[in-house]
Amino acid sequence: MKAIRVKQLRQGNPSIELEMVEDPVISHPQEVIVKVLAVGLDGTDKEILKEKYGVPPQGEDDLTTGHESLGVVAEAGAESGFQIGDLVTAIVRRPCKKKSCVNCRNGHSDFCQTGEFVERGIKGAHGFLSEYYKEEGRYLVQVPTELLGHGMLVEPQSIVEKVWDQVLRVQQRLIWEPRTALILGSGPLGLLAAATCRLLGLDVFVWSMSPQDSLQAQLVKDSGGVYQQAGTAGGTTTLTAYAEGLGKPLDLILECTGYSPLAFEAMSVLAPNGVLALLGVTPADRKLEIPSDKLNHSMVLENKCVIGSVNAARKDFETAIYRLQQMEKQYPGWLNRLVTNRMSLDAVPKLDFASIPIKAVVDIVPVEQWRELVKQTNEVVYSFSV
Ligand SMILES: [Zn+2]
Repeated sequence: MKAIRVKQLRQGNPSIELEMVEDPVISHPQEVIVKVLAVGLDGTDKEILKEKYGVPPQGEDDLTTGHESLGVVAEAGAESGFQIGDLVTAIVRRPCKKKSCVNCRNGHSDFCQTGEFVERGIKGAHGFLSEYYKEEGRYLVQVPTELLGHGMLVEPQSIVEKVWDQVLRVQQRLIWEPRTALILGSGPLGLLAAATCRLLGLDVFVWSMSPQDSLQAQLVKDSGGVYQQAGTAGGTTTLTAYAEGLGKPLDLILECTGYSPLAFEAMSVLAPNGVLALLGVTPADRKLEIPSDKLNHSMVLENKCVIGSVNAARKDFETAIYRLQQMEKQYPGWLNRLVTNRMSLDAVPKLDFASIPIKAVVDIVPVEQWRELVKQTNEVVYSFSV
């Protein structure tokens, strides 16, 4: 079968190639062979493909990339819990093997304490940018055929669902009635976070580098949020100035840019009792001078909370499926517009990430063939365009 592999990762001079690799074969009744329909690409893939971020499986030199998958069960082991034709996505992280890691031992490898977890397509295991993959049924999540057009967005949306779940757990510490959310960044994660916060009934403000007339800005507006370009001429100069200008308490801030100076600035504009959640990282080693006393003062005296959040658990994937369906109902066509680039597997080695306005999806099977591969159900399948 065909697969996109980052070659020679351990040698430090990687290249991206479309390769012929062996077809996966079921070796256990709990396993499933999935025929991949589409895979979404994100910033992590960019880093793996361009900046040598990935780690190949033990004993190998190459890594099949891709972790935002949508596929259809092609072969199902007797104890897998799946049937041929089921539409599925896969959880990305696999637990570490340490007995002492209570989170991995209890279905929460997203809170792995040892760092020895494996992530398909990222760290220590091949990903999904291939014609087929093999997986145990327990790591697959069934996607309703209603979501056929957008199932590859379940994984990125699961990141948003995890952080919202975490925020709610943290805020059980008090009576919290959030009204306003500020999203920093307008990449796929920032935009999904903005639409999610709107669906949760919050007033949403998005502050990002994209121009005021960009598709990103338009998508924010079309989901009922308010967009403001950051930094450059015509935009608000600093986050602090922007927040002051809004004149509203910012109850929830989701930092989705990974630009660490912004994370520290966000602490100072957060409302009393508020939560700042950090969702992004960038491969850099910045040093920053911060008003540490002032920040410490406001964090303590105003009960502020800062949390980091990574990856997601099965339940977050399940909530993500529900939320994406809500989004499509509430903002028809919005998810289609988020996916700005579609390409075949053959085009990936020459892909220029800088040319992707928001989100790229690789169609391993041409879209017009998807419906015939998926098991027919009585559910309503809404139409989607590419
Ligand atoms: Zn662990």
